[in-house]
Amino acid sequence: MPVLLPVALDQTYDYLLPPGAPDLPPGTFVVVPFGPQSRIGIVWDGPVGETGKPVDPKKMKFLVEPMDVPPLPLLSLRFAEWIARYTLTPLGMVVRMMMSAQAAFEPQRPRFGVRRVPDAPTPPRMTPARTRALDIAADGLVRAKSALAAEAQCSAGVVDGLIEAGNLVEVAIPERTFPHPDPRHHSTEFTADQATAVHTLVSAVDGDTYSVTLLDGVTGSGKTEVYFEAVARALERGHQALIMLPEIALTGQFMSRFQQRFGCLPAEWHSALAPPERGRIWRGVATGDVRVVVGARSALFLPFRELGLIVVDEEHDQGFKQDDRVHYQARDMAVVRGSLGKHAVVLASATPSIESHVNARTGRYRHVILPGRFSGAELPEITPIDLRTEQPDKGKWLAPRLVEALRETMERGQQSLLFLNRRGYAPLTLCRSCGHRFECPQCTAWLVEHRFRHRLNCHHCGFSLPIPEKCPKCGEKDSLVACGPGVERVAEEVKERFPEARIALLSSDLIPSLVEMRDIIKTIESGETEIIIGTQMVAKGHHFPNLATVGIVDGDLGLSMGADPRAGERTFQLLHQVTGRAGRTFAQGRGFIQTHLPEHPVMQAIIKSDREEFLNREIDMRRRGLLPPFGRLAALVISAREKELADKFAREVARRAPRSERIEVLGPAEAPIFVVRGRHRWRLLVKAPRELDIQGYLREWLAALPDIKGDLRLTIDVDPYSFL
Ligand code: ADP
Ligand code: ZN
Repeated sequence: MPVLLPVALDQTYDYLLPPGAPDLPPGTFVVVPFGPQSRIGIVWDGPVGETGKPVDPKKMKFLVEPMDVPPLPLLSLRFAEWIARYTLTPLGMVVRMMMSAQAAFEPQRPRFGVRRVPDAPTPPRMTPARTRALDIAADGLVRAKSALAAEAQCSAGVVDGLIEAGNLVEVAIPERTFPHPDPRHHSTEFTADQATAVHTLVSAVDGDTYSVTLLDGVTGSGKTEVYFEAVARALERGHQALIMLPEIALTGQFMSRFQQRFGCLPAEWHSALAPPERGRIWRGVATGDVRVVVGARSALFLPFRELGLIVVDEEHDQGFKQDDRVHYQARDMAVVRGSLGKHAVVLASATPSIESHVNARTGRYRHVILPGRFSGAELPEITPIDLRTEQPDKGKWLAPRLVEALRETMERGQQSLLFLNRRGYAPLTLCRSCGHRFECPQCTAWLVEHRFRHRLNCHHCGFSLPIPEKCPKCGEKDSLVACGPGVERVAEEVKERFPEARIALLSSDLIPSLVEMRDIIKTIESGETEIIIGTQMVAKGHHFPNLATVGIVDGDLGLSMGADPRAGERTFQLLHQVTGRAGRTFAQGRGFIQTHLPEHPVMQAIIKSDREEFLNREIDMRRRGLLPPFGRLAALVISAREKELADKFAREVARRAPRSERIEVLGPAEAPIFVVRGRHRWRLLVKAPRELDIQGYLREWLAALPDIKGDLRLTIDVDPYSFL
């Protein structure tokens, strides 16, 4: 029978069932011998790939055994095949993503804990540690040995001793099950607009068929509240539901809102989960015990067996595109999952992607609009600050008008937010005396000063060194100067100007974990913080009720992204999302954008809050340029340590591109960041009209290439989002 292994191969292998063993249904996880090892594989429902030639039955190996793991649903098999075909990834790699919870495949050993034996005589040899442990256990609860030892500040040996003495007894800890969210736990009263939106989404779920709805509403319009009703309906109909969020929007705030609506917390799925918890959730989803998952993009690959709804919140977010190993866009794959599983998909955003807008305009998606904020508050008024005429003081980054706005806001007892999408203290460091610039030895990139950590870091490869005292080139002491601002430098300026202010600095490199991030967000929500300074972490999902003023330190930062066809869209989304954080619950929200390009169309659209104008322009530009969604793109990146090798191979790849009247191949060109981690990178871009089978074209091309040997690497990125 055909078995697929989670390795970089595009084929199944044939194995024999042991004599007399019952047949195994497709999706069953099995252990099979593979080379010198044994591995976990999945019984597939047909051969895949180059299994045309019959295998000599004498050479065929026996499958070792089926595993005690819930099988992968057939739909997951089809979904994996679809993704593999579309992204040109070996099927085994896609399946590997579906198995990314190792603990789910380990034998389920019952866990043991200890409980105090009531009325047992006190052991003859009592020590302070023993007394502490027994006192804690006196409540009769079952605790893991390690937990009791930790609580009593004693060694595990002390606990073992008490078991031997008969004062503690070992008992099995029952496996925790998942609470089931109750769709009727809380009923929300909706405004007329919201009620219409709820009706549309609920009908989509009721339809029990494939549909995509774009839920398009300004920040604070109640999108979350509205799509919760769709989740409730899916639950009532006996379906599982998945809510996907960008990783950093997975906040405690969201979870407690879920809890208020449904009476319990959802299962969470993100990269920070401990391995045993991952395993538990994976199994829970597979058995159907988990009813709702709230998760980052990889949650899409969980083994749902009764999925009836996927919500993709902040659907425009770049974080849904994965760019390592398997290159996929999770929002698009959620739509594919909906069409394979014949269920509803909801895409929610205050700034939907151009792709989704076009789909809504052409009627492929339903379009639901929430025009106003629930609180009735107007969107903030946006004022440009033209940096050519209103310059900040020398060595400072905030223009006088913005500083004044911060002061006023603080005096009114409200919060301000300063946004700069740049981590660290300064993006470039140079020597005043000889002009030497600090560059990463492995990348085409400047080193970024992180003053807080006292280091110079490369943001592309992780290279890092302590800030030197003298210039490594000319030897001059104390000659290094920081050029340009990062968030740390803006924070420094704020501290100088407002020494009394309570400040929070939010940057992913300063906050080590999701948990700590949640704590900081909580402090901000409580209104304690007066000035928040942050990178794009602050742009997403949070709701800060007391936030009145938002200042964008450098509004032009995203616009200079050369080859990126989405640069304008992204800048619009980011500026709109960040300024939209202001005044969500009251009337006088204000936004300031510092810019050198106030007349740029994207800037104008933001300042005038004229989304239609922006969309029309952008859509028209994409149509004329045959850019997504009117055309298809794929990027080929060729890299090698040795420059010559990469260069030669890139030209060879270009030469072998199949001829086609309608497909354009651009390049090879040096990637904008030419060297990353010591690898020289060349890019080719393939442009095809929408109706053309770009995968077929790429496959034909790959088949014509010479072997990719040694250090050479070729990656294919269908629908690329990164052009660096
Ligand atoms: P969005 O997801 O569009 O940004 P939210 O769903 O977060 O909007 O709603 C913004 C705020 O308004 C939240 O605090 C939410 O609880 C509140 N809200 C929205 N709609 C309602 C409603 N119908 N009843 C009560 N509160 C609501
Ligand atoms: Zn580097």
